Amino acid sequence: MKRDYENLIGKRNCGLLIGRMQPFHNGHFQVIKKAFEEVDELIIGIGSAQLSHTVKNPFTAGERILMIKKSLIEEGFDINKIYLIPLTDIMNHNLWVAHVETLTPPFNKVFSGNSLVQQLFSESGYKLNTHRLFNREILSGTRVRQMMITNENWEMLVPKATVDIIKKIKGVERIKHISLTESI
Ligand code: NAD
Repeated sequence: MKRDYENLIGKRNCGLLIGRMQPFHNGHFQVIKKAFEEVDELIIGIGSAQLSHTVKNPFTAGERILMIKKSLIEEGFDINKIYLIPLTDIMNHNLWVAHVETLTPPFNKVFSGNSLVQQLFSESGYKLNTHRLFNREILSGTRVRQMMITNENWEMLVPKATVDIIKKIKGVERIKHISLTESI
């Protein structure tokens, strides 16, 4: 059941957005920008934090945190209003919201375009903000990862600071190498 923290922290508007962000791209950025029109603070949960070094999840939670933090600073966001929190998956969907709650500060709005995430948080009593998808045909993690493997211009779909991190960690070489033995 949704927690009542008003006594503890006073009235404030805090949102939650969860995503695998593999990698962080301009669609994620647009959702964050929109969310800040409605909240004072935003928790960004890095989903499937335990996964990395696969074609679907090439980047570690730490690398994804860096991508997001540096991209938001580059775009002039106040990082003091943002919590970046790794969230590991658990085997039981019915307990997942409680698991997320133990790892995050309290929040009163959830932003998600993912129907399972929407379902689980609404069943737990949270107010949901569903958002429209921006340019989904190309602005998706799957598409960006495919473009990395096939040497297309993935950089245009990703904030510049994220491009810099991916280059520094040799992320394209990593995903290309993994894709030699694992299908996309
Ligand atoms: P994602 O990176 O695909 O998307 C994150 C958010 O960005 C979503 O709200 C999505 O709608 C939005 N987005 C993506 N592209 C967009 C675009 N072009 N325009 C606008 N918005 C866009 O991540 P996801 O798959 O939604 O992440 C959900 C996470 O929650 C996963 O890590 C999943 O494993 C986790 N989860 C875990 C459990 C469990 O452990 N039992 C249960 C449910 C969900």
